[in-house]
Amino acid sequence: MAGSDVLVSSSWFLVAGLIAIVVAPRIEATEPGLGAWKYVGGFVFAVILYGSVLLHEASHAVAARRLGMPVGAITLHFLGGMTAIEAEPKRPREEFFVAVVGPLTSLLVGVVAVGLWFITPDGLLLVAVEGLAGANILVGVLNLVPGLPLDGGRVLKSAVWRITGDMHRGTIAAGWTGRATAVAAMAYPLLQAQLTGVEPTILDFALAFIIAVFLWSGATAAMSGARIRRRIPHLVARQLARRTLAVPADLPLAEAVRRAREAQAGSIVTVTGAGEPVGIVSEAAVAATPVERQPWIATSTVARTLDEGLRLPADLAGEELVLALNRHPAGEYLLLDPDGRLVGVLTTADVDRAFREAAH
Ligand SMILES: [Zn+2]
Repeated sequence: MAGSDVLVSSSWFLVAGLIAIVVAPRIEATEPGLGAWKYVGGFVFAVILYGSVLLHEASHAVAARRLGMPVGAITLHFLGGMTAIEAEPKRPREEFFVAVVGPLTSLLVGVVAVGLWFITPDGLLLVAVEGLAGANILVGVLNLVPGLPLDGGRVLKSAVWRITGDMHRGTIAAGWTGRATAVAAMAYPLLQAQLTGVEPTILDFALAFIIAVFLWSGATAAMSGARIRRRIPHLVARQLARRTLAVPADLPLAEAVRRAREAQAGSIVTVTGAGEPVGIVSEAAVAATPVERQPWIATSTVARTLDEGLRLPADLAGEELVLALNRHPAGEYLLLDPDGRLVGVLTTADVDRAFREAAH
């Protein structure tokens, strides 16, 4: 869908089953005598409903991709869907655009369904059209509530970001309204009882609780992510580079370690006869090799082959640096100048340490 894989979480089947059970009596009333088929009809209804959720998510994916952000899989879960966008938007406008297309798509589907409702004859199709109209308008409106992790929260985030020039401040603000939304969702059954006089059932409270937990944890995760990211811009790969020693790949490990100590190098890179780097020695692998064995094995046996993701530009910094490390998790990376000259080795341990120090 929209160039992304679509994953369906197991919780989705549970909810599809629940929807089937809830909708079945309505189907029975419209088309009597279906017997157990009414549950199949209910399940088909659930599939159609989630098809419209998929449209909502696909619109986020298409918008993000148009703005050059890589998009991962779309996951359907019990409270709707999620699109994995693997980059932060660079400008508030982009954040706004990617967020707002979702609810707008749902509202559009809802409006189209309302239009169809007028021309659809009585019967099961009308039940489906009615459901689509109601559900999509509800999803569209609720998603515009300005609190993270809802789309409206990202709209609010982009607005605060635009005004203050600080993305993280936007996230924190929208996180707080997201928490407030969670509290409101929790209190909703009581409010509803006040307004309508109908006693809420245990199911109402359970549903309100699940939604409140979903909102609260989503808002909290976004806020703590923002607090951490705030400290990241201080990180510059070049400043963390370890001095590195280049050795032939077949040099005995003990000799490579001895030379590295002598040269006060904090890392070892294996090179071809022509001096082209081919591997980075893993500190962990060296530590795991008994000292008495080290004279007898080639340095290349404890080196990780230099795949593309392990060669990083030395000037990588901040968020970009963290993203690059996340894309290709490893213990060591080779840092290179734009002209391909070897600058040194960046270790994840050093990045973690610098990060902790920056946090104080
Ligand atoms: Zn959305």
